[in-house]
Amino acid sequence: MSELLNYFTDRTESMLETLTEMVERESFTREKSQVDRLVDWMGERCQAMKADSILRYPQGECGDFLLAKWNAEASGKPFLFLVHVDTVHPIGSLETMPIKIEDGRYYGPGSLDMKGGTVIALEAIDGLRARGQLPDRPIFFLATTEEEIGSPVSEPLIKQLAADCELVLVMEPATKEGTIKTWRKGGGKYELIVEGRAAHAGIAPQEGINAIIEFAQQALEINRLNDLKYGTSVSITLVEGGSAGNVIPARVEAHIDTRVMTLEAMENLHDALSKLYPKMPGAKVMCRRGGHRPPMERRPGLFEKAAAIGAKHGITIYEGGTGGGSDGNFTAAMGIPTLDGLGAHGDGAHATHEHVIISSLPRQAALIAALLLEWKAED
Ligand SMILES: [Zn+2]
Repeated sequence: MSELLNYFTDRTESMLETLTEMVERESFTREKSQVDRLVDWMGERCQAMKADSILRYPQGECGDFLLAKWNAEASGKPFLFLVHVDTVHPIGSLETMPIKIEDGRYYGPGSLDMKGGTVIALEAIDGLRARGQLPDRPIFFLATTEEEIGSPVSEPLIKQLAADCELVLVMEPATKEGTIKTWRKGGGKYELIVEGRAAHAGIAPQEGINAIIEFAQQALEINRLNDLKYGTSVSITLVEGGSAGNVIPARVEAHIDTRVMTLEAMENLHDALSKLYPKMPGAKVMCRRGGHRPPMERRPGLFEKAAAIGAKHGITIYEGGTGGGSDGNFTAAMGIPTLDGLGAHGDGAHATHEHVIISSLPRQAALIAALLLEWKAED
């Protein structure tokens, strides 16, 4: 075992204690006051870790954001850690899914996504600090609180901080297979609105324009935009229409979920959905774009560089990807080198069996510490 890995392995117990501090402070995205309690704790923690500055960004609806900086005055481009401290588990989940340790696994709501990853990042920074090895460049640590609903508020801040960074480290969990994530699909939500004309289905059906029949034709056309081989999926996920059993329906509303591998595919898809036109005389069709994240396209050379650094310290890493998005999608699309899925290994994110593989905590902390120590600027 390498010296660095040894060092962090010795700190496993204290990492688990920190994880428990975090998991016990339940932090469902929609419960601001509860999330803020955890953010308070994070602030104290960063203070104890001798951060140069700790900035709190007060929020109205969601929990406050926290930005801690180490080596703030150092020259060189910063490293930026992205963590989110909100979870999808409603407050009170601890009662039905209590913290437990079994077979080398740590169970608890939010343990994997992504309190485990947050602990790893804090531990890597604190470990290097204790060893007097913090790299001579700024380290930014941003904790947000609404990632699980798509980061609608923090997106501009994330992009602003990432703009001048050397490397963005996203502490989301690894894939189920234990790989870091070098690509993620992008995605977008759309709302489809089809309008026809209401009429009495018995007395004057000929005067109506049946929005459900118009919708049915649109649905088939939208379904043809699927290109699963190239990673493009277009799914109509929710439909609402009609008003009563004896009325020709005047309106249908539907939700569409789209996923893509490349920015180009995203633009082509957007173009196609924007150009839907009605098939029936008098009908109207509108397709509105909602929240969306660009894809994180694989950046050649980035994984190889991280893998070489890991290998130097006896840590072998593998790469993979996922259909789901993260805040890494924003920074990668800006052209900033972004490594994602650097957090804990485990399974059951968002589910009742959510857990972390305990040995992955020191292992990933050693990997992060190695990256901070050895990362050289891109030419
Ligand atoms: Zn997450």
